[in-house]
Amino acid sequence: MSDIVVQALTKIVGKENILLSLEERMCYAYDGTFRSFLPDYVVRPACTKEVQEILLLAGEHGIPVYPRGAGTGLSGGSVPINGGIAMDLIRMNKILELDKANLIVVVEPGVVTAELHKFVESHGLYYPPDPASLKSCTIGGNVAEGAGGPRAIKYGVTRDYVMGLEVVTPAGNVIKTGGRTVKNVSGYDLTRLMVGSEGTLGVFTKIILKLIPKPEAKKTILSIYPKLDGAADTVPEIINRGIIPASLEIMDDVAINCVETHLHLGLPKDAEAILLIEVDGDREAVERQGQVVAEICKSNGAMEVKVAKDDKEAEELWVARRAVSAAILQLNPTKVSEDATVPRTAIPEMIRRLRKISQKYNLPLPVYGHAGDGNLHPNIVCNKRDPEEMERVEQAVREIFEATIELGGTLTGEHGIGLMKAPFVNLQFSPEEIQYFREIKKVFDPQNILNPGKIFGGEEHEGLFSAAKRD
Ligand SMILES: Cc1cc2nc3c(=O)[nH]c(=O)nc-3n(C[C@H](O)[C@H](O)[C@H](O)COP(=O)(O)OP(=O)(O)OC[C@H]3O[C@@H](n4cnc5c(N)ncnc54)[C@H](O)[C@@H]3O)c2cc1C
Repeated sequence: MSDIVVQALTKIVGKENILLSLEERMCYAYDGTFRSFLPDYVVRPACTKEVQEILLLAGEHGIPVYPRGAGTGLSGGSVPINGGIAMDLIRMNKILELDKANLIVVVEPGVVTAELHKFVESHGLYYPPDPASLKSCTIGGNVAEGAGGPRAIKYGVTRDYVMGLEVVTPAGNVIKTGGRTVKNVSGYDLTRLMVGSEGTLGVFTKIILKLIPKPEAKKTILSIYPKLDGAADTVPEIINRGIIPASLEIMDDVAINCVETHLHLGLPKDAEAILLIEVDGDREAVERQGQVVAEICKSNGAMEVKVAKDDKEAEELWVARRAVSAAILQLNPTKVSEDATVPRTAIPEMIRRLRKISQKYNLPLPVYGHAGDGNLHPNIVCNKRDPEEMERVEQAVREIFEATIELGGTLTGEHGIGLMKAPFVNLQFSPEEIQYFREIKKVFDPQNILNPGKIFGGEEHEGLFSAAKRD
């Protein structure tokens, strides 16, 4: 820690917005993954100018800067792997403007996603992206990761709603990308480049988002299957009948058993799969679609189909799916949560391969996720204090990604590459493609001060899993 840097940072953000004690810095060492790295300084800027001044100072002293929203990331995106400055953007949390006529909202990056939902819905509008972490995560983090959620099958992901950005580049320039018009093809599409850039190309300080009218009604259906294949066959049949559900979630038998042991909801422990399906839109269409979906579930061998009569019952049907992430931690204390994504028709084969990987490495591997868009969450539940087990976990993760790519998929559908998937990035991209990524990074960040150690594999990632014991 340098006194000169502390003084300069204090001048920029004020004494109360620089955190230096070990206890405070510890809180910024983590995200939702299992590795942790301590930052030297934590700063909490309140405006674009302060973000700019921090980046200029960091450039002058060659200090790495790690932007951070709520720290809920599942790829190690915000963890300060090389120490330096953790830049907490949570104070920049204003909803700046609602333009109802143009269906636009302008926000600062630290707005919590659920707060944005509440705000726009109170005006009869809708912002569809709904990561399960929405009560804590921020829009800035969502844009940086290209976050998705259950509604992606019908409505798309964060990328589909970002119209424009204000970005402070690592060199300290403030640039604007995109704009407020639906049609806009002037110049290169820097907005698309920035969305999903995982805090490596710039810090977002203002975000222009597209809105849509709020759907009038919804219908929720829970369908329980004795056989996985019945659930797998249900998914394409619903879509082939011309129905695009607002969400279509799946849980496998290991996940079902964890939830049942945890919450005693009365779920059959011998079921191999559960689908949770929601349709939305005009009231009449939704009623009709709900009936068709329930029939399709039954005709594919569902042992039980529950159709919610109202919002309260719908919420009850979501309980099992919402609880699964916490419930699986009964098996072991560390969760390695992947979001390997395959074409939706490859889901049954992917689940079969996951079963084999689980047996081969003797690791519990509950699977749940977004069946409608092929975005599965295989979770290896393990113990990071056991280096031998973590070596097996790393090999299992590699095999999961190999299977994903073989089936025509991608390493990550919504969580980003960040730190934890960096060692595997060459499974998806050729050396030439990775070189293009590196050149783009250099254009924006010639000194490599913004979120270094992320996305691109390198020596610093060797033994990434087994070294967790030391954290
Ligand atoms: C229980 C749980 C459920 C989850 N469910 C989902 C889900 O359904 N779908 C999904 O997509 N994700 C999910 N996630 C992952 C996570 O919530 C998302 O990736 C989210 O977008 C991260 O937001 P955050 O504010 O916490 O960002 P952080 O974790 O703080 O940061 C994430 C990345 O964004 C960068 N960043 C943050 N703010 C900025 C900014 N203003 N400018 C530039 N870069 C920035 C950081 O450097 C980092 O690389 C889940 C996580 C948990 C713990």
